[in-house]
Amino acid sequence: MHKDKVIMTGERKQGTVCIFGTGDFGRSLGLRLLQAGYEVVFGSRDLKNSALVPKGSKVMTHTEAAQMAQVIFIAVRRNHYDFLTSLTPALEGKVLVDISNNLKRGQFPQSNAEYLSSLVPGASVVKGFNTVSAWALQSGALDASRQVLVCGDDPKAKQAVVDIAHSLGLTVQDRGSLRAAGELEDIPLQLFPNWRLPLWIATGLTAFVLLYLLVHDVTYSYVEDGKDNFYRVMISLPNKAFPIVALIMLALCYLPSILAAILQLHNGTKYKRFPDWLDRWMLSRKQLGLMALALASLHVLFTFVKPIRYYFLHRTDSDVIEQIQENITEPFDNTAAWRSDSYKCLGVVGFALFLLLGITSLPSVSNALNWREFRFVQSKLGHLTLVLCTGHTLLYGWDKFLQPGRYHWYTPPAYMLALVIPCAVLVLKLLFITPCIHRRVSRIRNGWERPGKSRSEHATVPMDKATSL
Ligand code: NAP
Repeated sequence: MHKDKVIMTGERKQGTVCIFGTGDFGRSLGLRLLQAGYEVVFGSRDLKNSALVPKGSKVMTHTEAAQMAQVIFIAVRRNHYDFLTSLTPALEGKVLVDISNNLKRGQFPQSNAEYLSSLVPGASVVKGFNTVSAWALQSGALDASRQVLVCGDDPKAKQAVVDIAHSLGLTVQDRGSLRAAGELEDIPLQLFPNWRLPLWIATGLTAFVLLYLLVHDVTYSYVEDGKDNFYRVMISLPNKAFPIVALIMLALCYLPSILAAILQLHNGTKYKRFPDWLDRWMLSRKQLGLMALALASLHVLFTFVKPIRYYFLHRTDSDVIEQIQENITEPFDNTAAWRSDSYKCLGVVGFALFLLLGITSLPSVSNALNWREFRFVQSKLGHLTLVLCTGHTLLYGWDKFLQPGRYHWYTPPAYMLALVIPCAVLVLKLLFITPCIHRRVSRIRNGWERPGKSRSEHATVPMDKATSL
């Protein structure tokens, strides 16, 4: 590769790069390479395609183009790879970059890159660039992922591809040998894999709570008192359902680490694998938290529109008129004022901390924190946020749970449902920070094992999971 580099007088030129295929990806990559100072030659079935390719590049037959460069990007779909077998002599010793993707997982028994390697055994195949889109290359990757994942068996060939990616302003992650190619080919087929569980939880819980509120708050008064409150489905019910779900989901972020600690105490070791469902739950905590934050933000927005609602204005006016007509003045209730202010204060501070948690989970921010700082924010401030938001809900309910009239059709007010999991998590957390339990868990997490545990029955548990309480 390096011997291909040409130094022109006055202007630094990179080497020559060859691209097979003048389709969308080939053209976008060619343009980007030209901008980075490379000479670009296209290998194409049809030389008339020179009208399509970026200005400054050349179009030749595949054989001619292959002779011009050491690195050749195969911007052709896998089902057309057969033509490469006839080019075997021209491709001997070359670096072939397989950028191809498939339409679905497991489409072929062998990864595309390994298949390419078997077609042209004399070349060094590197898998890479398949996770970058043609559009991202063309737009300068300013608003798309800049990361190129590469894998390959020949370190020199891989380095040549890494150098090209760097000179295009892209970041590179080495994913090992060509055996990892299948994994890389699956990445563009994924659709928010880590968001699936949190999305299901958020959707399921929101639907359940909305239905509960519809029965408890609206249908009940229609059936029992003949009051038509169905207009509440637009603002009142969502404004109750969203914070309930947000609080439960926030608590669900902290519950798995407690369950993990219980399992570790029970097993007497940290070297035993957690069940798969707990693993998956742990890996979704960030998404659970962000989803909860989105719902809490909706609660804030809905609360802001409260004073301009017709129902609110009408009820305020009616109350004032009623007091005037009956010539009474409702005395100032100091307890109600304390309750209202405390409830709102906890809500505002809790939401501010919740925002802080969300911000620190962004990669650009979390990358600037060390492990201890990140844990301080996510664990200590996270639990404080849970305490504040649970307090906010408790003060909202105040003494409602003591009033039998609130139990419509023997069901409790919805806010009480919201408190079950958060209170359980906080009580368990309190138990786990008591010195005797904390000391025991810490010992296990530092590698201590209860006598009698044989290592053979254990599997390794990733550090972050083992220490995340
Ligand atoms: P495309 O627009 O369909 O272009 C494919 C090119 O392959 C054609 O322009 C053609 O070039 C060549 N070709 C077609 N049939 C051929 C045959 N029978 N024999 C030899 N060459 C043939 O596809 P693309 O979007 O550029 O994608 C190319 C590869 O990049 C695919 O494997 C795709 O999975 C991968 N990829 C694409 C993107 C993207 O955003 N588009 C992103 C990542 C990876 P000539 O007419 O010049 O021969």
